[in-house]
Amino acid sequence: MARPSRKNGEYERALPPTLLALGMAAVLIVVGAVGGAIWMQLRVPPQLCAVLAEAGGGSGTQFGENDVAALVRYVQKCSSAGFPDVPLTRIQKIIGERSSVAAVEANQEVEAELAREAHEAVLRQNGGEWGSKFHRLRIDRIVDGLSHVAGDDALGYKIAMLDTPQINAFSTADGRIYLTRGLVTTSSDDEIALVIAHEMHHIRSGHWINWWAVSAGDGSFDADTENPQEGGAMAEAALALVKMGAKAFSGEASTSYEQEYEADAMAILHAAECGYCVRRIFRILTRLPEMPVTSHPTSSDRIEGASEVLESMGDPSWIAVHNPAEVARLALENAIAALRGDRPGICAQVVGLDEVASICARTLKTLEGVEDEMRAYNWLGHGWPYADDSRMVVRTALFTPVLCAVDVGVETTLGHSSAGTPGVLGGRLWLVRRDGVWVVVLGQAFSKARPVSSHWSMVGDELGNAWRWVGRGGWLASGSSAQVVWDGNNGDAGAARGVLEAAARWRDTSIIDFGEHLSTYAKGRIEYVNNANLEDEGGASKDTGAFAGGSSGCDCKQSTASVDGGHDRMNSGAWQGDQEDGSLEAIGWAQFLSGRKAQNWAWSVRCDVHSRTLATVTFSSAISLDEVPITSNFTRLTMVLEDGEWKVASVSLQ
Ligand SMILES: [Zn+2]
Repeated sequence: MARPSRKNGEYERALPPTLLALGMAAVLIVVGAVGGAIWMQLRVPPQLCAVLAEAGGGSGTQFGENDVAALVRYVQKCSSAGFPDVPLTRIQKIIGERSSVAAVEANQEVEAELAREAHEAVLRQNGGEWGSKFHRLRIDRIVDGLSHVAGDDALGYKIAMLDTPQINAFSTADGRIYLTRGLVTTSSDDEIALVIAHEMHHIRSGHWINWWAVSAGDGSFDADTENPQEGGAMAEAALALVKMGAKAFSGEASTSYEQEYEADAMAILHAAECGYCVRRIFRILTRLPEMPVTSHPTSSDRIEGASEVLESMGDPSWIAVHNPAEVARLALENAIAALRGDRPGICAQVVGLDEVASICARTLKTLEGVEDEMRAYNWLGHGWPYADDSRMVVRTALFTPVLCAVDVGVETTLGHSSAGTPGVLGGRLWLVRRDGVWVVVLGQAFSKARPVSSHWSMVGDELGNAWRWVGRGGWLASGSSAQVVWDGNNGDAGAARGVLEAAARWRDTSIIDFGEHLSTYAKGRIEYVNNANLEDEGGASKDTGAFAGGSSGCDCKQSTASVDGGHDRMNSGAWQGDQEDGSLEAIGWAQFLSGRKAQNWAWSVRCDVHSRTLATVTFSSAISLDEVPITSNFTRLTMVLEDGEWKVASVSLQ
């Protein structure tokens, strides 16, 4: 009896590894087969492939009823299998393989050498190249979208960010576009898209060469042969605008004046096609420096030219034919209005559109509640731009002459937006061009709300840990764009560490602890509002417990503190958030946020130690409330050393 049992025991001991291996192999095979089967299911149907292949050829192709039905079935199948982005990426791949991109031509050897010298000179004269991972991701995303709608190869453009606080942008003939740190950190996505699209048009059209030829008095330059004309949908759209009175799209701009107007007009057209808010061109034109009048029109003349283009683009018939992003936005607005009962009788006839609209309506409702509260506090400051604007945000994700996919959502910003547009995507609308008019055929709801600025979740919180690394081997580790600049005579690593530590504390207390935040300000700006009854802190109860990390993997803190006592005090009206440097607005935000689940990220940190007692810390940041991003800023803290400790003397938000 003992032997068999021992044998059994040996048997049992010997077999499990083999059984386990066999079992695992079997499981892998099954998983692989199932996965493969699902993956095969997610292939673009041949019918769609065929029509998309033709789509590359031009606007003559039509999307028939059967094609639309195939598209709807395919998108729904992928969504329900848990792969909502597969249709877009696979169709993009098919389109990408077929489209012949008008890549920026490689220059002759001599020109390339000149370009390299010019590039080095530009870097030398403008503080060198600025390496911000966060803003690099943001710019790349904007360039990708603009290149796509313009039919360019995004790789043909080389974007350099210059480390200077000036607000400016320019380009050179070899496809380089220069953006200053001052421009990038204080502009919204809309503004940056307009600036980049303007420079892209100069490069694409060889304007830079023109400009030098004109200034050298060389009349032999033939604009017609050197200007690669844009073909397809964009050319048609521009032509239609010319017919409506927008003069800037002649395509034969030979003087630098005409070229500026044309580049502005093209920028508006391309940025609108991507879904950016092109009315922001007015804000950017008033912020860029005036150029020499011998070569450039004045800002006010450019504003007049841009107004003309914008007016023509508002024409409903032009929108229907040439602007799918706007068509998507209008469809979404209508669907939301119908859902909320604002426009009884109108309801969406499109599969899935109601679902997308209801997701967006929920976000809107949350936002409106917060806004009402903010108004009661008088804390919607001077950057409040959305009182009359649409809150719907749209971003073109795919664009062909007959098929377009537009990501739609709600712009959630309650203040400035200068580190990417705060917003939440609710879904994707698919549009086809039928009988020359863009029509929404399908709404695809996203099960999980996504931020519009996807790069926010791709870069960790840099200020949170920056001070720990100063003076150690790990400082300026790859991937971090935090930077410390100090004068060897005045500052040292210890000072920089103290400055950054205090800045990080300020950043945390600006959300989690209003009392401490106020004391930080006590010697700074607070006398500005000495008529406010600030001593009465009695109602505030603080509870700064344990905090969990955010959903995006950053280590910022969250709070469950409550400051109910602040409400009445703030209604005194003394806290109008309209100070030019935004410092009072910052205090207002701090108190408003301190009772909620709020997070604050900071990227692209730069610390300048100017002397033994004075330093500045600048960074881009974004704040979210209950996981909805609500504002993004460029923040500058002026720090002073008092009693051996670094303190925040003033705060500037842009
Ligand atoms: Zn220009």
